[in-house]
Amino acid sequence: MKLSRGSTVCSLAMVGFCIFAAAQCLSALKEQKQGLRRFEFTEPYMGTMFKIVLYASDESSALEASRVAFNRIAGLNHIMSDYQPSSELMRLSELAGGPPTRISDDLYGVMSAAQEIAQKSDGAFDITIGPVVRLWRRARRQHELPESARLAQALELVGHQKLRLDAKARTAQLLKPGMLLDLGGIAKGYAADETLRVLKGYGIDRALVAAGGDIAVGEPPPDMEGNGWTIAVASLDSPAQRPNRYVALHNAGISTSGDLEQHVEINGTRYSHIVDPKSGRAITGRVSVTVIAPDDTTADALATAVCVLGLERGLKLIQSIPETRALICQAKNSELQCSDWHFPATRDQSHDSPIVRMEQVSQRFPGL
Ligand code: ADP
Ligand code: MG
Repeated sequence: MKLSRGSTVCSLAMVGFCIFAAAQCLSALKEQKQGLRRFEFTEPYMGTMFKIVLYASDESSALEASRVAFNRIAGLNHIMSDYQPSSELMRLSELAGGPPTRISDDLYGVMSAAQEIAQKSDGAFDITIGPVVRLWRRARRQHELPESARLAQALELVGHQKLRLDAKARTAQLLKPGMLLDLGGIAKGYAADETLRVLKGYGIDRALVAAGGDIAVGEPPPDMEGNGWTIAVASLDSPAQRPNRYVALHNAGISTSGDLEQHVEINGTRYSHIVDPKSGRAITGRVSVTVIAPDDTTADALATAVCVLGLERGLKLIQSIPETRALICQAKNSELQCSDWHFPATRDQSHDSPIVRMEQVSQRFPGL
């Protein structure tokens, strides 16, 4: 991971952030020199658009690699979706209260990464949040807060300690009947990382995978050697406005979470799709968090965790994990207050050709 250092606290009169990745115009000459051409592919999975940008020597190898990569994402969705009753995740949840069950390497991999962040974040990130998330989804549909008795009941089924993983046996055990797993806060990051891995297997190292607000980047584009993929952090409020932060990254993940797009307003209060596993309450204050980490599985989960923890505790968490950076924006009165920890310094650059627009608008809740 390559990025510059610097820590500032700034106050911005902006409602939110989104990210998009941009690459500087490519010098055709340099590309030809390396014999590489740029290709771009987009397909919908996991309720969002997956965009692959890659450099390959010819079109047929780019097409073949991207086809296999998209198939891999589709396969991961079939394992991790909490919308498909037949997914491996849902079948595992159905066995809650029973003995340990052997699970696939992918499910094991993403769940053990989730458990690690759960421990580090003191339970702010918790994939056993399913029963509570269900209640809030219904609340969003019906514009009515969940009953506190039902929330309390659901909360009894939540807790990362109630999920046991056995690394040797590759098993998972949900200790209480009724438990429900939700990988919504980590699956896209994992899928983005795995997509890069698939492309590497085809000899394609110079690639970027963006799954909505979750981006994984490999080696830099040919004309950005020694630098990286340029990711721009821009105002969500006014998409036309020029981004004011750019980050050059390679071999890293960058993810944004927040309530800025996915929320519901009930009795004048804004409730996010992110829930605090301690209280069972949906996050209410406006918040937007962008995290950089060595991989996007980690960045995705941490961005969700920091939304729950808020500015101070969130920064502490990021500081405690090597090679991670964060930009955290929270509404205070009518202003958005942003604090960053070693987030790469603002650079004023002109990027005429944005290649990826990272949207926080996930369509995970199409009916809402
Ligand atoms: P997005 O899905 O918009 O990219 P996130 O990565 O922050 O945003 O994931 C939010 C999703 O994670 C929610 O829709 C829900 O499925 C799940 N979730 C909500 N709260 C938590 C939490 N505290 N820990 C883990 N997962 C959560
Ligand atoms: Mg997340």
